[in-house]
Parts: sequence; structure tokens; C-alpha cells
Amino acid sequence: MRSTTSFKPVFALADVNSMYCSCERALRPDLRDTPIVVLSNNDGCVIAQTREIEALGIEMAQPWFEVEEQARALGVVAFSSNYELYANFSNRFAETLRQFTPFVEVYSIDECFLDLTGMRVDLEAYGRQIKETVLQWTTLPICVGIGHTKTLAKLANKVAKKQERFEGVCDFTSMSETELDRLFAGIAVDKVWGVGRRYAERLARLGVENVLRLKRASPKRVRDEFGVVLERTVKELNGEVWLDLQDGPPPSKQVMSSRSFGARVTTLPALQEAISFHAGNAAARMRKQQLYANAVHVFIQNSPFDQAPPFGPSMTVALPAPTDCTIKITEVALWLLKRMYKAGIYYQKAGVMLMELVPAEGQQVDLFGYASSIPKSKALMTTLDGINKKYGRGTARLASEGIKQSWTMRREMMSPNYTAWAGMPVVGSKLVP
Ligand SMILES: [Mg+2]
Repeated sequence: MRSTTSFKPVFALADVNSMYCSCERALRPDLRDTPIVVLSNNDGCVIAQTREIEALGIEMAQPWFEVEEQARALGVVAFSSNYELYANFSNRFAETLRQFTPFVEVYSIDECFLDLTGMRVDLEAYGRQIKETVLQWTTLPICVGIGHTKTLAKLANKVAKKQERFEGVCDFTSMSETELDRLFAGIAVDKVWGVGRRYAERLARLGVENVLRLKRASPKRVRDEFGVVLERTVKELNGEVWLDLQDGPPPSKQVMSSRSFGARVTTLPALQEAISFHAGNAAARMRKQQLYANAVHVFIQNSPFDQAPPFGPSMTVALPAPTDCTIKITEVALWLLKRMYKAGIYYQKAGVMLMELVPAEGQQVDLFGYASSIPKSKALMTTLDGINKKYGRGTARLASEGIKQSWTMRREMMSPNYTAWAGMPVVGSKLVP
């Protein structure tokens, strides 16, 4: 994607502040200054909250019944989650960003990466313009982080959010190395994209507690201790681009499966196969982590490189009860696809995202038996995963995924997969007389 000119790459990350709560506020301007929480399906626990809530001693993931009385006394207004509404605003948000560059990667429901490489603008001022336009057009408050790599843009966004002097826009590209290093020395290492709490603990034992230390760490040593992913992070912190749009660790609390098509796809049946594939793939990955999904999100889009107006609808629906069943999830994903599909579009990409993941253990009782309405669903999924683990991904799958999968990625130049039977080189075919 990147052009061959010598521009230094520039990425921006736009992130909505308290997304779910801001969407609720969009329709209730009277609550602009009221603390808000949003609750998970069946009003189980707090999954989103506005800034003021932390000060009130209410924490994320806390069961609502534990804090309800105290919260109401403090004037907190609670909403049940409305994923359809949030997805709608998410679309408006991404759509607005596309006014500023066609190269927008929707990373999660409330985060988009923008590729601003080669733009002859004052980047910080451009960031402010993006922020103001999104606020004006969608009412959503956002922060913008700008840097020469995605990892830096993500970090800049964190800074923009936390340090008030930046007023919501932080541009690392306009700061000197000394300024940046001073800033990095004051940021805990777990704030870096892809450095989880577990890595952070191990890094701390090696004396790497802040971002500056990680930036200055020897990439080779980091690779030996932690692997190539963290090595790449160190290089990205130093301004070396390793992640392009569409690359990077997946957002937390979500599982996404998406891919560009090998050739443009126009028909509904081909899209249905692709969406089925991604639904199955995402569900399997979710089961591996022993999680259940509360909502399903589907998107389809044409290419920013085609000479056609951008078309990229997405929809989200909340499930009646959390589930990890491929059949249920595929059913919902296909239903969403049907509602979005428009003929005459040259689709370039499609994907399925499973959202609001919760631990499989301790699920609330599902009064209407939704999750268990498919007989032996649990055993079926275990068998499905078992077969695919033993014989390779996709060995057993739903028929709706299709057999030929003509929409798959172009991989004509891929080396044979020597580790699978199908990829074994054939030495002679006349062995059997
Ligand atoms: Mg956000």
C-alpha cells in the first residue's frame, strides 16, 4: 500500500472517549454532565463508564446489583447496552474520518487508524480539525494521537487522553527526541500497545518499567527473552515501521476475523460464504480462550483504491444470551449480512467481530434457553474444535462456508505448506503400478 516516495510514514489513531456512554449522551444531551454507566446484557455488570465514575468508587466489571443503590444515590444514570446504537455511531465516526483520508482502518468499535503519510499539512492542526469535525458531525468526543508508527500513534493517543495540556490531540512527530524521551520516562510500560500486564511484570523484573527503558532496550535481547512480537514493538517505539494498516495485535475483549478478497466479490452467495468462514473462525478462536460473546458485528466494504464512492456498512446485534456456538453466531452474522448487502458493489473485504466477551464460567442463567437451544451444542463445538486441531483448520466446518471458497485471498505466490499432507512434495507418481 505504501507509496515508494521517501515520505516518512505518519499514522494517527482516533479513539472515542467512553464510547458507549458518549453514544448514550448523544441522544440525551441533558446528561452531558451526568455520570453514566452502561451495563452488560441482562444488566449484569458495568462495562462502560464516564470519567467521573471512577472517582465515585465504581469499577469496571463490577456486578450492577452490588453498586446500584450507592450509584443511584450519587446521581448515576445507568443504561442497558444498546450495541445497535453504538455500531451506528461507530459507522458515523469512521465515515467522518474518511473525509480526511481514504486510508482508514476500523480497529475496534471506537478506534480507527488513519494513514496520513505524505500529507502536506500541519499534522497537529489536522488532528484538531479531525477532532472538531467528529464532535460536530457525530457529537462524539475523541482524542487523536499521531506518530511515525502505529505503536507510537497508539501511545500518543493515550497521552492525549491522560494529559490535559494536550487538549485531546498529541502529535509525537512534531516533538524532539529529547522531549519524547522525557515524556516516555514518565509512562508505565504496560501502556504500550501489545504489552500486557504479564509482559509488564516480567519487564519490570529486568528493570524495564517505563516506556523509555523499553525503547532503549536491545531488540535482540528482547527477542531472545520475549519473542519477535515484542522485538517489533521496541523497533516501532524507535520509529521503525513494522505494522501497516490492518496489522497489529487484536483489540482486547473482541475477536475479529477478517480478510481482503483475492479478487473483488459482487454476489451475495460469495459474501455469505466469506462471512460464514469468518464467523466460524472467530468463534473457534474465542472458544480457545474460553470466552462467550455478547454481540456480533459484521462489516463489508469496497476498496479505497477503486474509483467508486466508499461503501462500508457494518452492523452489530446483541445476542439474547452469551454464546460460543458457531451455529448460533453464523446464523446471526448471515442475518446481518443480508440486511447490509447491496448489489452492484465491488466488495474487497469482509469480516466478523465478536464483542463483549465474557468468561465462559459463571454465565448468568439464560431464562429462554437460547444458548442451549441447539441440542448438544457444547459437545458439538468440542468435537468440531477437536477435529480441526488434529487434522488442520477448516477440516470440519459449516456447509455455508462453501467448498471452493473462490473469495479467498490471492495466494498464488505462497510457498507450499510442507507441514500438511496436501503440501508434501510428490517424488514420483508411478509408485503404485
Ligand atoms: Mg475509546
